[in-house]
Amino acid sequence: MLYWLMGLGVVALGGLLLATHLHDRRERREIESSHHEVDELRRACEDDVALLGADVRRHAPLDDLGELLDEAWRGARDLEAEARDLVRSASSPHHFELVTSHLADARQCLSEVQALVLDDTAPGPRPACFFNPNHGPADAHVEWPVASGTVKLPCCVADAHRINSGAEPYARTWRQGDDRVPWWLAGHAVKPWALGWFGRWRGTPHWTAMEQVAEVLVTHEHSDHAAA
Ligand SMILES: [Zn+2]
Repeated sequence: MLYWLMGLGVVALGGLLLATHLHDRRERREIESSHHEVDELRRACEDDVALLGADVRRHAPLDDLGELLDEAWRGARDLEAEARDLVRSASSPHHFELVTSHLADARQCLSEVQALVLDDTAPGPRPACFFNPNHGPADAHVEWPVASGTVKLPCCVADAHRINSGAEPYARTWRQGDDRVPWWLAGHAVKPWALGWFGRWRGTPHWTAMEQVAEVLVTHEHSDHAAA
């Protein structure tokens, strides 16, 4: 009886050690994959902030063109500085959503600067170019094929020209293994970046079109809730 009980104890202890080992290994893998995701997001956001920085400096007003223009330009410059700080301090994938949301606001400010330089009316808020949000707020639309037919995607004029003449859009690409793919085909890792750029358009026809092309934008209530 005693031997039987001791045997049972050894089996139970072995089972417990195995379960702990598997749990630790899973946790380690999750931490490694989250670090990898953060590294990729940081690299992508650093690139986007650098592109914005170059455009902010290119649009710096050389003459006194009025308070409105100064204000719009300073808005873009301050958002760029804040985005730069946020990229540095981000430690979790969802922190990067705020970075690209700042970039979307800064791009909107720059489009106001451009309009004011041309003595045009400042344009209202528009979604960023779907294909590459660094192109700025969309001034055009294109028909894009999806499973159910086509949708109208907001994009920049240059991408609309490319697509309408049969060429590919100048897409923002994302590293996937040894390749780079357009961001909307890059899967879950791109989600915080994409939500920062486009998430404010949820509930609009723009969003309905975009989420049919970029599956990563589709909200899965349960998993998104669990991740929050
Ligand atoms: Zn574009």
